Amino acid sequence: MAIATTNPATGETLKTFSPDSDALIEQKLAKAARAFESWRKTSFAERAQRLSRVGALLEERKDALGRLMTLEMGKLRKAAVGEIEKCAVGCRYYAENAERHLAPEPVQTDARRSEKRFQPLGAVLAVMPWNFPFWQVFRFAAPATMAGNVGLLKHASSVPQCALAIEELFRDAGYPEGVFQTLLVGAEKVQKIVEDRRIVAATLTGSDGAGRSLGQAAGAQLKKTVLELGGSDPFVVLPSADLDEAVKVAIAARIQNAGQSCIAAKRFIAHQQIAGEFEERFTAGMAALRIGDPSDDATEVGPLSSKQVLDEIDKQVRRSVEAGAKVACGGKRIDRPGFFFQPTVLVNAEGSPAWTEEVFGPVAAVARARDLGHAIALANDTPFGLGAAAFTTDAREIERLTDEIQAGSVFINGMVKSDPRLPFGGIKASGYGRELSAEGIREFVNTKTVWIG
Ligand code: NAP
Repeated sequence: MAIATTNPATGETLKTFSPDSDALIEQKLAKAARAFESWRKTSFAERAQRLSRVGALLEERKDALGRLMTLEMGKLRKAAVGEIEKCAVGCRYYAENAERHLAPEPVQTDARRSEKRFQPLGAVLAVMPWNFPFWQVFRFAAPATMAGNVGLLKHASSVPQCALAIEELFRDAGYPEGVFQTLLVGAEKVQKIVEDRRIVAATLTGSDGAGRSLGQAAGAQLKKTVLELGGSDPFVVLPSADLDEAVKVAIAARIQNAGQSCIAAKRFIAHQQIAGEFEERFTAGMAALRIGDPSDDATEVGPLSSKQVLDEIDKQVRRSVEAGAKVACGGKRIDRPGFFFQPTVLVNAEGSPAWTEEVFGPVAAVARARDLGHAIALANDTPFGLGAAAFTTDAREIERLTDEIQAGSVFINGMVKSDPRLPFGGIKASGYGRELSAEGIREFVNTKTVWIG
């Protein structure tokens, strides 16, 4: 894939970038290894001061950085600015909490003193996706560098200006050279970089195919990985729910980022008692969304990020209809420049490709459940296990849903969101490992046992 900026609202390629040469990659790897030797010895206070400066720069530059996202992957202007603000919050969280999360933990044993210590590992490669071009990177970079590691970013080929702007933020915040660098390379270079002895671990956020490929390459070298992959999150609505709220949140959860979010609700499961009304109101809401230019604040759904994503959604909808799903609204690409698809609701969608695969666009698959047990079975009827949401006010149902849904997170009466204070990650084909919170910063450290007799 060419490394280039293509505006998804118009389809125009505005700028192309030459990938880093092998010699430049070598220089960056050497720089990272050198930087680690001194960075790992810096105090938490020094690291926190730098990360706080990045947070301040994010706030200062939020409009310009937001515009880059809108330009390169079509995010709505307001959401793009919101994403930058969230990155600043993430920086603040780790600047304030890293030392606490990584403080040595004394353990009583037969030793005179024994404890767990958490020490940095070295240079970590981060392979990142275009859908949250800043937030995905910061939730790796903030904890990893606060732990004393150094980072190398291989961003998605479609967001090179975002990738370079992130590197610039670290440079402008006064980080020593080599602590955070961007590599402008395509996916085909990843295996060789992971195999390099100076890379000690890797993280990838992206599709399960890319995750498998990185996991294999790193596994062959016995290098630690964290994989944050796709999802097909269920959204369960039960009879005791506040239906107005459930419908409103269902639309927001499906349509965020034009449907291109790993934790967007993708499969909607309504109890048969309220299914008819839910489907009707949800469909009306989806059909009424305003589609258009992502830089116009009246727009509710912008373009998909690329022609490739648009073509894939189009095919998945057609295959789902062939498999028996019914189009309640939408179902077609929009005849205008750029990569637009109609917000779509597919009912009777159980078992169709929209149900069994991840659909990375504004397409909702709906099915009906006979009872709570059936709803839970449908929620778990997926190869993925990232997040799940359910709407009910019944305490017994809440207990069963939070206990029995197989996913990295379950949200009751709210949509699935990431929050620096809470761990984030999946099970099954959604990957392994956790980001954010204490769990996230402990992924790329050596938990060292110290025993002094
Ligand atoms: P993608 O095609 O898998 O790309 C993600 C990153 O992996 C890009 O940097 C890409 O580079 C690279 N890549 C692709 N194939 C690779 C391979 N064989 N080996 C090594 N690297 C490879 O995914 P995407 O379309 O950008 O992003 C959408 C996917 O990300 C969805 O499945 C979504 O659910 C998932 N996602 C998950 C989370 C989470 O936290 N769980 C968050 C956001 C998104 P190129 O761009 O150069 O191809």
